[in-house]
Parts: sequence; structure tokens; C-alpha cells
Amino acid sequence: MPRRKLIKERVPTPERPVEERVKDFGEVNLGYTFELAQKEAERCIQCPADYAPCIKGCPVHINIPAFIAKIREGDMKGALRVIWNDNVLPAITGRVCPQEDQCEGACVVGKVGDAVDIGKLERFVADYTREKGIDEELFQEMVSNRPERKEKIAVVGAGPAGLTCAGELAKMGYKVTIFEALHKPGGVLMYGIPQFRLPKEILERELDRLKRLGVELRTDHVVGKTITIKELLQEYDAVFIGTGAGTPKLLNIPGILSMRIYSANEFLTRINLMKAYKFPEYDTPVAVGDKIVVIGAGNTAMDAARSALRLGAEVTIAYRRGREDMTARIEEIGHAEEEGVKFEFFLNPIEFISDEEGKVKAVKFMKMRPLEERDSRGKRKIEPTGETVTLEADTVIIAIGLEPNRIITEDCDLETNPDGTFVVDENLMTSTPGVFAGGDAIRGEATVILAMGDGKKAAKSIHEYIQSKKAS
Ligand code: FAD
Ligand code: SF4
Ligand code: SF4
Repeated sequence: MPRRKLIKERVPTPERPVEERVKDFGEVNLGYTFELAQKEAERCIQCPADYAPCIKGCPVHINIPAFIAKIREGDMKGALRVIWNDNVLPAITGRVCPQEDQCEGACVVGKVGDAVDIGKLERFVADYTREKGIDEELFQEMVSNRPERKEKIAVVGAGPAGLTCAGELAKMGYKVTIFEALHKPGGVLMYGIPQFRLPKEILERELDRLKRLGVELRTDHVVGKTITIKELLQEYDAVFIGTGAGTPKLLNIPGILSMRIYSANEFLTRINLMKAYKFPEYDTPVAVGDKIVVIGAGNTAMDAARSALRLGAEVTIAYRRGREDMTARIEEIGHAEEEGVKFEFFLNPIEFISDEEGKVKAVKFMKMRPLEERDSRGKRKIEPTGETVTLEADTVIIAIGLEPNRIITEDCDLETNPDGTFVVDENLMTSTPGVFAGGDAIRGEATVILAMGDGKKAAKSIHEYIQSKKAS
């Protein structure tokens, strides 16, 4: 085969201009066209599958060179088939995976130039096949001969872990019912990640497919309150828990009870789930002032900051460490900066100051300084300088982390770790036989693709568990 010339620079994806996109919640990145995708696909040097570092970097090990080869050939159904072998939600992961730490971070082309834009190519395959109806053809092919089984499975939580587990089990022929606490399914994909990063229509389509697979969805069901795990086990042959990590960590510092201090999850839920950004069309506004300080530096902080900016506020992100330790996706940090979000580093909040009505009006920070030593996560340790600084703020959003809620465990004896995550074995079974768990509920705050990977693995384990029980 003739050697190809290495193309070091990425084919950029078109984006909406900053001045236009900050006025609405429409999607920022427009994705590749067919021609641009084929051009970017040409940059892949087609490492053999048993060596390709990108495959090892992807948590669900998609055969990346194979799907990129199909793009080059113009065989989009073939490309989607390769991706669907390991990942049934590529339109979502192509948009939200932290690719720089996963598939793209490992790409060999990235050692000498820009890594192949695997995420955008994956998204392209999903979007293109959806627009042309090709994905529906493939879906019908995949589910046409599925068996019928009489066993019933309960899935608790309709985030990426629960939805994937439900979909996989339904494809195997099981009767699946999802119990979801909120009035809409999707988990963080619905209530957390904003429309400008992940259009909800994509999720709606996946939910529609689940329904057509016969999955029953019961919303407004808080398992642990409305119904318990013990009760579910009486009616169902197995249970999967995918309840995520949706409880915000808050700051235990003076002034925390001042008005207009939100957790990022509440703020984003009001915007995304309750559609505050469509007020007055939706009668559920969110109160924000003119100067907002967001505390944190992960995806949640970025989403909250960029949503606040679109509601017309001036936004500053304050982080106690330095830029290189921010955990948000690089693309989101870049977009936030382009859109005018300001960043302040090495500031650790120590007090919220409120006005005579009790509304927050400023945040006092301790200035920190970095040390040479690194902690167990590889981040540079920091120490207080003794100097303080105060930033004016009429609204504060706290995005310093999340942990699992403990509602389910209030009424059953599932073993948990001190941080509230469920203890599971290598098959994702909890301490109670027949009850499995995955996603953020076992990992703490993690990623969409890891949650989906767990959902798929748990479905396989549940199938094996049921079959072995039948055989015994
Ligand atoms: P979740 O998505 O949290 O879903 C859990 C579901 O269970 C929810 O619908 C919840 O209402 C329901 N539930 C909880 N308790 C009960 C109960 N007792 N009974 C019934 N239902 C219950 N990851 C990325 O990979 N890329 C990103 O860009 C990214 N951005 C993020 C932005 C934000 C704002 C947040 C909060 C997270 C982000 N993440 C991102 C992390 C990612 O979204 C999560 O890792 C992922 O959603 C976990 O999936 P899950 O299914 O385990 O849980
Ligand atoms: Fe990369 Fe995520 Fe797709 Fe895997 S699922 S190839 S990590 S974008
Ligand atoms: Fe292509 Fe990069 Fe994967 Fe090699 S590592 S197969 S160049 S995407």
C-alpha cells in the first residue's frame, strides 16, 4: 500500500459566531459535513486494531480505525454498525466525551500534530445516518429477530447507565420497566448538560427507540420512597440501579444561607428541565442578577457559567487551583473564554457577604499559591497565602462536586462505601443477589461513556444471572 502523507492539522468543524450564539441556547458546534468528515477521516493512518492506541483509550473500545475506514469508503451504515457494536449513543458521546483524555489523547497522529478528531467523526456518523434515516434501517435489522422472554427487570434511574442497561435487556427480549424520580427521563443528559452542547431532540429520539423496544417508563417514581428495592425484588427477576450522583456538595462557610446562592445542579435543572431559558413561554423563570460568580472548574461549572451568560449576566469562574488542573473538557473551556466568561485562579472561597435583605452581594476568597508537590490525582497541592480578595456578586453558583443520593439505601441494606457509592463485584452485582448497579452510583462523578459502559456490562450480567438461576 503506498504510504500516505501525514496531515498534521485537523479539519476544523464549523461553529456559530460568538456574538450570535451567546444570545440563545442553540447548539454551538455545527459538526462536519460529509466532505469535511471524509477529509478528516483521511488523516487517520489506520493503525491495526490489535495495536491502535485510540481503541485502548476509549472506555468501551470502539473499533475506531474500522469506522473511520468506512467513512472514507462512504459506507455510513457500515460505520454506524461498527460504532453500535460498542456504543449505542454515538450522537451523545461524540458531543460530550472528554476525548482529549480518552480516544484522542491516545491517537498516534496527536504525537506529531493534532490528534484525529475522533469525537467529531463519531458525531458525524450518528447525525448523518439519523438525517438520512439509515440508523432506523439498521435499528430495525438489529431488533427484528429478537427473542421474547417472560422475565421482568426493573431499572432505577433513567440516566445514560439506566437507559443503556434497559435498551440492551430489551434487545435480548426481557420486559423492562424504568423507574425515574424526575418527570422526564435522561438524567444529567436532560437536566444538566445544556441544549447548546447537547440538543434534547437527540435524547428524545433515543427515548422513542426504547419505547418502541417495549421498555415501560414510569416517571415521578422515587425508588426508596414511592417504592422500595425490596418491593421491586418481589415483582421483578432482577434490578439495576443507575441513580447517578446528583447530590451537590456545598461549602460550609459563613454566609452560605444567603439568598441567590445556587448549587449548579439546581441552577441547571431550572434552566434545562424547567426551561427557565424559555421564560415567559414557560412559566418557570430562574432569578439571576447581573454579576455572577461560579465556583468550580469542571464541566458543571462551565455549563452553569455559559448558561448564566446566555441569561444576560456578567460571569466569573473562580477556582482554587490553576488553569492546568481544570477538569472540564478543553473544548468547553475554550468556548467559555470565547464567549466572555472571566476566569480567576488560585481563589478559595471563605465567606459569602450579604446585604441587609440577606441577598448575597460579594464573595470573599483566600488567595492560594501552588506548591511543587502533587496530590494522589496528580494535581499540584496548594496553600493559603494569607491574603484575601473580594469579588462582587449578586448571584453565586457552586459547582464543587456531586455525590450519590442515599434515598434508596434508607429502606434496604445494600452495602455502600463511605462516599455513598454502591459496593459491587466484578459483574456489577451489589451485596444483594439480583440487584446490580452502575454509572455514577458506583463511581461517583464520572462520565457519560463510563455510565453507558456499565449499563451494557450490567445487562450482560443480569442476563447471565437469570439464565443461571433458570438452569439451577
Ligand atoms: P445520571 O445521569 O445522574 O442519572 C441518574 C438518574 O437517576 C437521574 O435521572 C435521577 O433523577 C434518577 N434517580 C436518582 N435517584 C433516584 C431514585 N431514588 N429513584 C428513581 N430515580 C432516581 N460527562 C461527560 O462524559 N461529558 C460531559 O461533558 C459531562 N458534562 C456534565 C455536565 C454536568 C452539568 C453534570 C452534572 C455532569 C456532566 N458529566 C459529563 C457527567 C455525566 O453526565 C455523568 O457521569 C453521567 O450522566 C452519569 O450517568 P448515570 O446514568 O450514572 O447517572
Ligand atoms: Fe472517543 Fe468517547 Fe467515542 Fe470512545 S465513545 S471513541 S472515548 S468519543
Ligand atoms: Fe487512526 Fe489515531 Fe486511531 Fe491510529 S490512533 S487508528 S491514527 S485514530
